[in-house]
Amino acid sequence: GYAFDVESVRADFPILDRRVGGDPTTPGEGPEDDTPLVYLDNAATTHTPDPVVDAIADYYRGYNANVHRGIHQLSQEASVAYEEAHDRVAEFIGADGREEIVFTKNTTEAENLVAHAWGLRELGPEDSVVLTEMEHHSSLVTWQQVGKRTGADVRFIAVEEDGTLDMDHAAECIDDSTAMVSAVHVSNALGTINPIRELADLAHDHDAYLFVDGAQSVPTRPVDVGDLGADFLAFSAHKMCGPTGIGALYGRKELLDAMEPFLYGGDMIRRVTYEESTWEDLPWKFEAGTPSIAQGIAFAAAVDYVDDIGMEHVRAHEDLLAAYAHERLSELDDVTVYGPPGDRRGGLVSFNVEGVHAHDLSSILNDFGVAIRAGDHCTQPLHDKLGAAASARASFYVYNTVEEVDALIDAVDEARELFA
Ligand code: PMP
Repeated sequence: GYAFDVESVRADFPILDRRVGGDPTTPGEGPEDDTPLVYLDNAATTHTPDPVVDAIADYYRGYNANVHRGIHQLSQEASVAYEEAHDRVAEFIGADGREEIVFTKNTTEAENLVAHAWGLRELGPEDSVVLTEMEHHSSLVTWQQVGKRTGADVRFIAVEEDGTLDMDHAAECIDDSTAMVSAVHVSNALGTINPIRELADLAHDHDAYLFVDGAQSVPTRPVDVGDLGADFLAFSAHKMCGPTGIGALYGRKELLDAMEPFLYGGDMIRRVTYEESTWEDLPWKFEAGTPSIAQGIAFAAAVDYVDDIGMEHVRAHEDLLAAYAHERLSELDDVTVYGPPGDRRGGLVSFNVEGVHAHDLSSILNDFGVAIRAGDHCTQPLHDKLGAAASARASFYVYNTVEEVDALIDAVDEARELFA
């Protein structure tokens, strides 16, 4: 049974009722007219429920104005809503307050903020940065390039055959030279849930900081920065019912205080002369220029939405669908499923069908209205290691049903027959 009523959740997402299709003549050209949509690409982006769409529309219809600078009433209303959105996000992840929450464009920008503002200043050839082999390109490429500029050694904790981290290797990689450990909490490619607390302890034992990529974890399970031992945490609103264009960087206040700004300009300064400038208080020191105001306000509405369902319920639902999809896919003998078993993974399953390119598979699935992702999922080195150029990935959110997983399996079955 469900911990909450999926049908009433679905009613908040009109897009889930839409039909797809045109007038295709050949397989792979698209669904037939009026095919129901089965949306299983939630790790890429989730849909936006009516209350969140309303929050955006209410802002533009009712109190659209620039924030911070204005004395006039609309600007004050917008400022309060935008600033309080930081409080809401802070509370959601157990941060101490708005000082610890910087709104960024997305997870990627949050990673770049720390790698540039902290990494370029603090790292040198004597230092090391430790990542995992399953990092998303957003952290992998960022630290790789900052490593090249600073001379810091960038190391990768090995991924085992079963898709989990080799924690003995982690203990070897993280040593007294290590200044930063950056690890993905839930892998968007393998579904692996990484032992973040253990990594935090290893990092802190060596006076290193821990940056957690929470892009897939914050939307899908209860996350508390204190419990994790995270010094930094990044995530994106668009993967948790919020809009695109907004994400958050959590940083421990003393660390953000000690860091220099990433971007310079208006709104982030306190006093400017032709020679010198001083910085605004946290978090505004890191939010240069006019921010994404409607998106920030809607981010808080998205947090309200998932929090009302309850993150324990969201997790239980993700676990149920992922375990079921994992089990059903594993039953098919020419299907390779990547990552750990059903009870140790986040709400997504990556797989390949023997002899069928993931792109072709996904295009056949599209004929059945089933939306999945095919590609390297921004983890090219990991896919090299898996020996697969690409994989197919089905990923679930609160509004998905067991019947939709069945539709996925039926479509995969049809594709296998088509290519047999
Ligand atoms: N990390 C992980 C684990 C992700 O899944 C994603 C999104 N695919 C990102 C980082 C990057 O998120 P964004 O594109 O919103 O910056």
